[in-house]
Amino acid sequence: MFCRFLLPTLFLFISGFGLAQNAAHQTENVILVTLDGYRWQELFIGADKKLVGHPKFVNDPDALKKEFWADSPETRREKLMPFFWGTIARQGQLYGNRKLGSKVDVTNPYSFSYPGYSEIFCGHAFRPVNSNDYPDNPNLNIFDFMNSQPGYKGRVAAFATWDAFPRIINTQRSGVPVFVKVQKYENGAECEGVKFESWQTYCPPANSFITDDTLTYHFAKEYLQRHHPRFAFIGFDETDEFAHEGKYDSYLQTAHQLDEFMKDLWVFIQNDSQYRDKTTLIITCDHGRGHKGKNMWRHHGAAIIDAHQIWLAAMGPDTKPLGEIKTKSHYYQNQIAQTAAHLLGLDYNLQPQAGKAIPLITGEQP
Ligand SMILES: [Zn+2]
Repeated sequence: MFCRFLLPTLFLFISGFGLAQNAAHQTENVILVTLDGYRWQELFIGADKKLVGHPKFVNDPDALKKEFWADSPETRREKLMPFFWGTIARQGQLYGNRKLGSKVDVTNPYSFSYPGYSEIFCGHAFRPVNSNDYPDNPNLNIFDFMNSQPGYKGRVAAFATWDAFPRIINTQRSGVPVFVKVQKYENGAECEGVKFESWQTYCPPANSFITDDTLTYHFAKEYLQRHHPRFAFIGFDETDEFAHEGKYDSYLQTAHQLDEFMKDLWVFIQNDSQYRDKTTLIITCDHGRGHKGKNMWRHHGAAIIDAHQIWLAAMGPDTKPLGEIKTKSHYYQNQIAQTAAHLLGLDYNLQPQAGKAIPLITGEQP
């Protein structure tokens, strides 16, 4: 009896104290981005030696090698993701290089998309969510939380290529806008009743075949510029699509394009008066993929060895520039929701079992 009542009081006191200590935090906006099913192996090691020249998975191996191959993994990964390794690795933090002992994992037992995104947003794995066709997510999540905070109501938005996100976020319940299936016109775009008569920010991408993620990105950026949400999510999808199709060349080219979008987003953030030096960018993925043999990279799920392995990147005014994390550590997908809340000086209290904030990212005392 004693403990049951004292512990929550103590917890409230300690967590309140911790947040008060963090009163000097500078983050006022958080933008969370996901690259669906993008492996830590490519992020940290670059193009895969046994796949980059494989005729079954690559149309023109010589051309692909010319674009993304180098003997050293450091050069290779920088060729593939120049913004991650040129900017985030210098100004932010990158978790998940298991070769150095930095581990990030999902805690759900499924290693596929709906359970992964649900874990990111809710802050915990939920066993009944066991299908990508699962109906509206019954659990409250970080969008419900943000949208109920003073100064954030109506300033929360999500943009995604995959049309399951309205269910995963449960926009029906919260009313948080979730923009999927963007329609592009010659000079503008429309989605969920929001119409941009003409683009203010659009520029044609270098890689036009990555069509859906490109539209998702440009619609999101346009919306950020016009409406300035304080908590935003952008969910990209085509890395996963091309991997399932066994197209390793398109998978790499998509990752390279998404890296370019992240660079463009960061330039936009740092040139916008609301966002400049007050915005933390968090980038992660919903699940990993296999790596055994030649075929397993295409797949993920409970039966695929190591598909639970993911990665996490963060950059912003409260996140010390530690770069690639090279010390032994283990973090989990269920810590992202609370980390985002703490960055904003808030305590995400809708799910008591949510994973703890990552103090290295939030700049708080551990
Ligand atoms: Zn996925």
